Amino acid sequence: MSPSAVPVSASSLAANDTARTITKTAASITNLQPADALPELNAANLETNFTDAPRSLPHRGSPEEASQSVCTDHMVTCQWTAQTGWQAPKLHAYGPLQLMPTASVLHYATECFEGMKLYRGFDGKLRLFRPKLNTARMLMSATRIALPAFNPEELLKLIVTLCATDGPKWLPKERPGSFLYIRPTMIANDPALGVQKPKQALLYVILCCFPEMDAKPAGMKLLASKEDMVRAWPGGFGFAKVGANYGPTLVCQGEARARGYDQILWLYGKEGQVTEAGASNFFVVWRTPEGKTQLVTAPLSNGGGQLILDGVTRRSVVELVSTRLHDELEIVERKYDIGEVMKAADEGRLLEAFAAGTAFFIAGVGEIAWKERVLKLKVGDDGCGKYAGQVKAWMREIMYGKEDNAWGYVVNETGVPRS
Ligand SMILES: *Cc1c(COP(=O)(O)O)cnc(C)c1O
Repeated sequence: MSPSAVPVSASSLAANDTARTITKTAASITNLQPADALPELNAANLETNFTDAPRSLPHRGSPEEASQSVCTDHMVTCQWTAQTGWQAPKLHAYGPLQLMPTASVLHYATECFEGMKLYRGFDGKLRLFRPKLNTARMLMSATRIALPAFNPEELLKLIVTLCATDGPKWLPKERPGSFLYIRPTMIANDPALGVQKPKQALLYVILCCFPEMDAKPAGMKLLASKEDMVRAWPGGFGFAKVGANYGPTLVCQGEARARGYDQILWLYGKEGQVTEAGASNFFVVWRTPEGKTQLVTAPLSNGGGQLILDGVTRRSVVELVSTRLHDELEIVERKYDIGEVMKAADEGRLLEAFAAGTAFFIAGVGEIAWKERVLKLKVGDDGCGKYAGQVKAWMREIMYGKEDNAWGYVVNETGVPRS
């Protein structure tokens, strides 16, 4: 894979430019395969084998649901090998995978994933949210770690089929406003220890039950990372959703939790550049000394290296603010450091801070601890500041079908045929 296939360069105010970068990347990667090459990922070849042991839904608010270990009745899997290309995808009962102890993923972190949600709308429909951005990003992540390329449109069709099959039962119409978490994953399952580009890979998609998210009334508490713990660095892979980015952060996260914090605010470098919060993008709203109100977030491109993940939620926040709040808020995507945030707070110019990502959606920040300092921020009853609350409400309306918007991608339900 040529390095140019990885979208590390993007312009500054970049929501739209980046949309193009990701899609261009997807196209250029898929075009690398000549027409007469091995079989490509093809959802039309899906083989279906419904489970004969369907399970019951976990009760709302049960420990079982909170465990995030209950998945729906079915999953989709698809095997790739360097000799055969992509084999026929299969939809079958959810259950364990078989892996040899030598499997590449277990040793060399040859794994990438996506995080999406399937929403049950207040109009009774099932929807995904801007899913093409996720499947394009999955392709980018896969190729960053030498996993095979695929046509992202075919992955989307497989995701949609799984959602159409299990959605009707697992997101009942009587529970509008609920969601399932979708986890597309790819692992290298070569049964050999050689350190090399994988020759076998398994793509799979599962749907997991998540507890309802209640906002923290006091907002999230963030602990800033110290200089000896870095999440991402220029030339690294912090922009890709690869498993290797997460395991090594869990010591830090565990310490934060033990001290009563929810997430780490990831800083980078001597100057303490603010990058992301946990596995979410991070925003602040401040007034400049000149009196402008700005929405500030880290840039996608950072002088030759991309330190942050190009979040679908981040992008949606930027796009909504630029179309609906542009009179009030100037959007600034630039490098900024924790010192600037503290200074703004000292001078009474810091209005709010929030994290944005699919898993925790938009979460207001009530506290940031950095070195000896503890910065407190006022949040409303919903745990958010004014602007975060507004953008969150708009996005919810799209996700749950209260606003008809092209970002909401309707899934037509089929369910499991009764025999
Ligand atoms: C997944 C993720 C995000 C959020 O991306 P979304 O597409 O909005 O869910 C942000 N940062 C990191 C490190 C992530 O893994």
